[in-house]
Amino acid sequence: MIIKEEDVVIVGAGAAGIGAALALSRLGVPYLILEANHRVGGRAFTDVDTFGRPWDRGCHWFYSADVNPLRTLADRLDHPYEKETSEWMSAIHLGDRWASDAELASARSFVADGFARIAAADEDVAIADILDQDGEWARLMRDRVTQFRANEPENISALGYSRYEDTNVSLAVSGGVGALFEHMARGLPVRTGCEVNRIGIRDGRVEVEGRDDTMVVAGAAIITVSTEVLRSGMIEFDPSLSDDVTTALDSINLGYAEKIALSLKSDPFGFSETTRVSLSGGGDDARHIQFEIIPNGRPLAVAHIGGDLARDLAEAGEAQMIDYVLSALGSAYGSSIPSMVVDTAATSWSTDPYVRGGYSAVSPGKVGARAVLREPASERIYFAGEATSAKYFSTCHGAYLSGLDAAHRAAELLGHWPAEQDPTWLPVFG
Ligand SMILES: Cc1cc2nc3c(=O)[nH]c(=O)nc-3n(C[C@H](O)[C@H](O)[C@H](O)COP(=O)(O)OP(=O)(O)OC[C@H]3O[C@@H](n4cnc5c(N)ncnc54)[C@H](O)[C@@H]3O)c2cc1C
Repeated sequence: MIIKEEDVVIVGAGAAGIGAALALSRLGVPYLILEANHRVGGRAFTDVDTFGRPWDRGCHWFYSADVNPLRTLADRLDHPYEKETSEWMSAIHLGDRWASDAELASARSFVADGFARIAAADEDVAIADILDQDGEWARLMRDRVTQFRANEPENISALGYSRYEDTNVSLAVSGGVGALFEHMARGLPVRTGCEVNRIGIRDGRVEVEGRDDTMVVAGAAIITVSTEVLRSGMIEFDPSLSDDVTTALDSINLGYAEKIALSLKSDPFGFSETTRVSLSGGGDDARHIQFEIIPNGRPLAVAHIGGDLARDLAEAGEAQMIDYVLSALGSAYGSSIPSMVVDTAATSWSTDPYVRGGYSAVSPGKVGARAVLREPASERIYFAGEATSAKYFSTCHGAYLSGLDAAHRAAELLGHWPAEQDPTWLPVFG
């Protein structure tokens, strides 16, 4: 067994783990990150290999971009992102025809009204209970909710959702959010390929053991794995997690969020720049799929699906996922479009053993769950990660900021001089 001594050990090198690491570097606290995967970033992953051009398999947008520290970091690193927010639904295809201008306006207004109702929610009930379920665009509204929150409206607390602070400025990151985190993590002490299986406390020290026979003994641990990884039992805690923590974990649904990407021969649509449309998935219960076509002039079409549809298609397998979106694209833009596809890819975050879902939503009636996870899990053990964020949950900047916060609390516990938090600090890169 390889035994290392550190002040702090961080489990997971996703957005939260990288945030925690940068904060500890700034505070001068010795630490090590243990990461199960062979890359850093977690759900922030820019795939360049599959098509030879970048696309984000996970997060791709700076949400609340005007207050998002990742945007400042992107500026510092000269990392490209869209400078203006753009319409998500420039057109809607209804399976057999395009929605008219009047229908498009009515759909947008229905969706805006739905999100306004959620934002104003003051009861811990399901989103489904406060939405207009019978209106003409009710199906579209459901699909927008599942795409934003990875869960069906019945499984999301409206009050929980309303606590998200949305400034309604969303900017797509053309250089890739995964690539940004990879850049930010350069030079940080990370041990990849190290799946942590046990976290114990002995003699006032935390022992973190990896499957590869690594043991790190530290004064404090910051655990950033997803709530579903925690629920899966992959990591044994000794002593066990408290009932409060277990109940909080059971009250948070990670849901399903997947993407299907098609690499095209050229730009068969003649769009030349990013076009975002809603296309019908066909069938009796036609779902609205959000497509991003020709993102930043690249010959790609990326479909976003969430909730039960994402679960069902991911279970059916990659071929079915691709057929589903090809059929929607073909119905909208003509049967020749599928023949312009040269390569395809689909994500499967829900079956990735180190993620096991999309991003978190609190169940109806359980609005306090995130706050429980923000408390130290036991003496010297802190949770971080998107699910613990009070106002930016489900996002990569929420995860990043939660890591910063946990790092400051761990440093303070260990007697390091607490400094003012600087979410935009970066080491000088070589
Ligand atoms: C399809 C999709 C689209 C999204 N789009 C956006 C978007 O546009 N904008 C946005 O802000 N957010 C988006 N998100 C959400 C965002 O990606 C996440 O909220 C954020 O990346 C989560 O970061 P995290 O550090 O909390 O968790 P993770 O990224 O899950 O990091 C946890 C890390 O822990 C590692 N790990 C797991 N188990 C172990 C173990 N036993 N031992 C050691 N390491 C372990 C994992 O490999 C991982 O690297 C999207 C997510 C998905 C899935």
